[in-house]
Amino acid sequence: MKASPTRPTKAIIDLEAIAANVDQLAAHLPENTQKFAVVKANAYGHGAVPVAKKLAPIVDAFCVSNMDEALELREAGLDLPILILGVVPKEVLPLAIEYQITLTVASLAWLEQVLVSFSDLTGLKIHLKIDSGMGRIGFRESQEVQQAVSLLSQAGAEVEGIFTHFATADEADDSKYQSQLARFEAVLADLETVPSLVHISNSAASLWHSDSVQKAVRLGDIIYGLNPSGRDLELPYPVQSALSLVTEIVHIKILTAGQTVGYGATYAASQEEIIATLPVGYADGWTRDMQGFEVLVDGQHCPIVGRVSMDQTTIRLPKIYPLGTLVTLIGRNGTEEISATDVAIYRGTINYEVVCLLSDRVARFYKGAD
Ligand SMILES: *Cc1c(COP(=O)(O)O)cnc(C)c1O
Repeated sequence: MKASPTRPTKAIIDLEAIAANVDQLAAHLPENTQKFAVVKANAYGHGAVPVAKKLAPIVDAFCVSNMDEALELREAGLDLPILILGVVPKEVLPLAIEYQITLTVASLAWLEQVLVSFSDLTGLKIHLKIDSGMGRIGFRESQEVQQAVSLLSQAGAEVEGIFTHFATADEADDSKYQSQLARFEAVLADLETVPSLVHISNSAASLWHSDSVQKAVRLGDIIYGLNPSGRDLELPYPVQSALSLVTEIVHIKILTAGQTVGYGATYAASQEEIIATLPVGYADGWTRDMQGFEVLVDGQHCPIVGRVSMDQTTIRLPKIYPLGTLVTLIGRNGTEEISATDVAIYRGTINYEVVCLLSDRVARFYKGAD
């Protein structure tokens, strides 16, 4: 989908805030902890290339989810290490070697298939993924990890790292976290040699389990200023949210009692009401279930009335405002703020999904690009 930069609906991304958040994390982690900035999914909707360019001087590597995301960074001239966290199709192996993209090896079955097609892996860097209890991808048995190390080394690949991922690092109860940590440490203890780059911590583990951080951390949600637990756990130190979503009033009218708004006529004015229309809808990632939520106009909370449609949303105003008046869907307006977490909780989801779902149609504008 093409971005629509002529429309007043836009995401404003504060790159200085993202850099400050990385610095804030670094200040609270053991010295010399390597920082991997997770910029998968277009940097959680914030824009992978601008975010990566801003962070390149202050992080050690980037993490993405697939080869195309990795190549986007390389094509933009970024030359830091890039780790692909997911399983890639074996056909992309030559690209990984050519563009120096580090791959995750998560199973023997995958590796054996790769070796059928590519016997020489010289120049390839690998991190091994251990499934310590997340239950998605990764080795579960030490012997298989050891076997993978042997096969990779014989084929000329460099096994640089080993990592795992936690299912519940954002929860108050740490029993599952501790059992995963123990399982991972047991695998490491079984290996003849442990790869040099051991990393286990996502944002939540870096925040609330900073005592068990290893050589590197993989920081996603938190660098965008979002609390990975939503409102469940308090952040141990403050961060700044980086993304605002704004638009403008493009149409205004006065309805009399009984007149309805939007598809399905789900809302009827109960008296004379001022209804404004905003050029934003579910095609922007402002989903249909936002009916009944609110936006900010002139520092006041105004309800979303009627169905959110593909390209338009309707709100009720306390008084008439001029066309072109700023409306904040996510972010600060006057003394009030609506956060991505507020939106997420209303929608019954997590802030990650709210920012990732902002579609390409929403033009991104950057503050603090170098
Ligand atoms: C996405 C991802 C991360 C980052 O998670 P956050 O909660 O956003 O910090 C870290 N590690 C892996 C394996 C991931 O897939």
